[in-house]
Amino acid sequence: MVAVVSNSAGQSDDAGTVDMRTNSDAEVSTIWDLLDEVKDPEIPVLSLWDLGVLRNVEKSLDKIIITITPTYSGCPAMETMRQDIESILTRSGYPNYEIRTVLSPAWTTDWMSDEGKQKLEQFGIAPPGHTKAETQTVCCPRCRSEDTLLISEYGSTACKAMYQCSQCKEAFCYFKVI
Ligand SMILES: [Zn+2]
Repeated sequence: MVAVVSNSAGQSDDAGTVDMRTNSDAEVSTIWDLLDEVKDPEIPVLSLWDLGVLRNVEKSLDKIIITITPTYSGCPAMETMRQDIESILTRSGYPNYEIRTVLSPAWTTDWMSDEGKQKLEQFGIAPPGHTKAETQTVCCPRCRSEDTLLISEYGSTACKAMYQCSQCKEAFCYFKVI
């Protein structure tokens, strides 16, 4: 997958970062690709990037710096994903790394990539709408009917709410807008 490498906005904590584009760009892009293997343990079709958890990959001197933003505080999946990042980097010959957790701005479901939302739907989970939308329409991931009913606010941890389609009667999870 091709990812745009950019510095997160407003971060100037690395005044001493040495910019060695030619050398580090290929390496940084390899690492973006490697990190695509890290999936959400609860939704194995979604990568860190799809989720919007992976914010940045950069190289500072000899160190690889990975910046992540947790989906929500206390999310048990985050620890697993962090360990997965560590094991992939170590296994792939990048033992010198640092994983930085950035809490602000806070993650929202808008950070989920469009590709990620499509993957969710194919997985049978209705994806979250845009946080700014006036009304949230929950579409049945099976028949795409908008005629759906909330049956429980509490689905499994990942899905957050259970819905049922009035058309095809499929019960499905909905990833709530956060
Ligand atoms: Zn349906």
